[in-house]
Amino acid sequence: MTVALLMGSGAKAAAPEDDFEYTNERFADLQMLRYKVHGFEQLSLRDKQLVYYLSEASLCGRDILFDQNGAYNLRIRKMLETVYTDYQGSRQSDDFKAMEVYLKRVWFSNGIHHHYGCEKFVPGFSEAFFRNALKSVDARKLPLAKGQTVDQLCDEVFPVIFDPTLMKMRVNQKDGEDLIKTSASNYYGDGVTQAEAEAFYDAQKDTTDQEPVMYGLNSRLVKKGGKLVEQRWTAGGLYGSAIKKIIYWLDKAATVADTPQQKAAINELIKYYKTGDLRTFDSYSILWLKDTESLVDFTNGFIESYGDPLGLKASWEAITNFKDLEATKRAEKLSTNAQWFEDHSPVDPRFKKDECKGISAKVIVAAILGGDLYPSTAIGINLPNSNWIRKQHGSKSVTIGNLTDAYNKAAHGNGFNAEFICDPVITDIIDKYGDNCDDLHTDLHECLGHGSGRLLEGVSDDALKSYGSTMEEARADLFALYYLADPKLVELGLTPNMDAYKSQYYYQMMNGLMTQLVRIEPGKNLEEAHMRDRALIAHWALEHGKAANVCELIKKDGKTYLQINDYDALRQLFKELLIEVQRIKSEGDVEAARQLVETYGVKVDPELHKEVLARYQALNIAPYKGFINPVYTPVTDGKGNITDVKVSYTEGYADQMLRYSRDYGFLPFKN
Ligand code: ZN
Repeated sequence: MTVALLMGSGAKAAAPEDDFEYTNERFADLQMLRYKVHGFEQLSLRDKQLVYYLSEASLCGRDILFDQNGAYNLRIRKMLETVYTDYQGSRQSDDFKAMEVYLKRVWFSNGIHHHYGCEKFVPGFSEAFFRNALKSVDARKLPLAKGQTVDQLCDEVFPVIFDPTLMKMRVNQKDGEDLIKTSASNYYGDGVTQAEAEAFYDAQKDTTDQEPVMYGLNSRLVKKGGKLVEQRWTAGGLYGSAIKKIIYWLDKAATVADTPQQKAAINELIKYYKTGDLRTFDSYSILWLKDTESLVDFTNGFIESYGDPLGLKASWEAITNFKDLEATKRAEKLSTNAQWFEDHSPVDPRFKKDECKGISAKVIVAAILGGDLYPSTAIGINLPNSNWIRKQHGSKSVTIGNLTDAYNKAAHGNGFNAEFICDPVITDIIDKYGDNCDDLHTDLHECLGHGSGRLLEGVSDDALKSYGSTMEEARADLFALYYLADPKLVELGLTPNMDAYKSQYYYQMMNGLMTQLVRIEPGKNLEEAHMRDRALIAHWALEHGKAANVCELIKKDGKTYLQINDYDALRQLFKELLIEVQRIKSEGDVEAARQLVETYGVKVDPELHKEVLARYQALNIAPYKGFINPVYTPVTDGKGNITDVKVSYTEGYADQMLRYSRDYGFLPFKN
């Protein structure tokens, strides 16, 4: 599970100056940033090698995600890239420039749908231009099927790009529709319906199994001769040519692993990639979560299922990182007190963990991002996702310090707070404590929130169906919000006083009620799990606090602002909702989940939306940010031995993407 960045985080107290270029180019609704890998030079040679090998493994699965996000994505990317690099006509024409922006968005989203809102991009260039351009370049560089002409390729693929009625949403969550048929993601083959897929996986479930695997996690479900079959993503199966490369680099990484535990984990992961056996994935996950001693660490595999409307199938992602020892002390204060937080949680004791096992937390320095974590990324990750493993063995929780740092530096002084906050008291509190409480919220959400609670006997992981992701994120957020205002945090030295938490309360409420709407196009509903979760919490609290006037939306000079009148009462509301959300999760009460999400987490007030968009537009801030990776270059002694690894930060966005397509383009265009 992950935490995504809040809108407008940052713009707080001035960060110390350094000469690193955090911001890079900007296009559409996106701003590219760079991140600095603090401390890489100080790593031992062995750890530098380990980072290098794991970072190669982190890049090898890029094509997998493109294909998971849509069956035409790899072909479309290749067509666009070929025109982008080889076109001899004017590069200054409106058509060419619009195509360039489109291609940059496709790179960013790993496909033709928005990475966050999930809606299909509207191309700003004409079909005629693109067809002529494709016909003007060397046809051997195009993703032609055997015997296919360029015109036939265009006829096949153009409707996917240009017809706005086709494959409209990557992930559709609209209640009452067939979520598989109406989602463009490529996790289910042609003709598979939602009812069939649900029945297929329900039939596999064994409610007496105390250690159930995550059914369907690593395969595409297709129909063959009228029967449903899984195409597993393994070295010898679907996506095998990319998975073999990942294994090649993992093999090398195992030779320089930090600890025997880590070496065992890497070897188990290789075994899983070869067999596709989900029990092996579970045993790998346990080895991985218990490896808390290694300085260097990684995630690599089919992990999060936000991209599957049914929440079963996982997209490929990877990150290579190492521990930020200083900042980790903060996270450790939480993890060593995990049992205290669980015991004092307000939820029904039946839904609590008797014993918090193996919760580890650390702050990490990201060294490379890959797959579904690139270029748009999470700032916190808590894994594994399997409920029984979390219950019996615990979980590993990380917050990614150098990425948060880059966001904050890029956001500094962007005018966001001045526009959306009119109360000088809270502005002052945010200036003083905003960054600190943001980080703490992420730590609490990941390390304790997701790690807390348990399901009742017989309730399955995916009992909440398509509402599962939103409810799980809401649970983690509410846990974090409830405890942010707890005197225990002051006692632990994590917050300086009982005012600091208000900065985060204000931000979360403002974000959920208003400012996250800048990420949504007019007329659209909320789709993404984290956005739904934050809207749900904020709207629920606003409504349930109405009678006591806990908080309200006020108008000043025609502009809407949030005003919080009673922070203590707001905490009580978060507490009440936490109790209910935990009950829903523990009992698998899908109907109550549906009610909550549909009532508070989906719909958008069109008037307020319009106003927020206009105010935000005037600030000229890109609503989404993503990262360009650093480049690692091994230095060798001429005999093939690596003597050092250099890191550089100069590669441009388009250069990086073209290089990745060239050097890590391991999959056939059609899978
Ligand atoms: Zn989360």
